[in-house]
Amino acid sequence: MRCRVCGSLQTQTTTDLPFKLGEHTIVILKGLPTLQCERCAEYSLADATFARVEQMLARVDRGTELEIIALPHDTTAKRGHGHHWCIRT
Ligand SMILES: [Zn+2]
Repeated sequence: MRCRVCGSLQTQTTTDLPFKLGEHTIVILKGLPTLQCERCAEYSLADATFARVEQMLARVDRGTELEIIALPHDTTAKRGHGHHWCIRT
């Protein structure tokens, strides 16, 4: 995937991102898998990650001022988990 700003390659990494849900509600997601540009500060979320983010944000009580949610390390970041290569000669 390429950066929509400068066209450089993006690398998969994890970061902590704040999401503002309303006037007074801020949710910080820690360990979020993102695609980070190698040249500029632009980042993007994979569709699967974005769907998970929306699910998690939907569960947050809008009366909360600050919520910090830590994501497990193994989910979307590890691609090919459980996949076995079969080498035939
Ligand atoms: Zn860029």
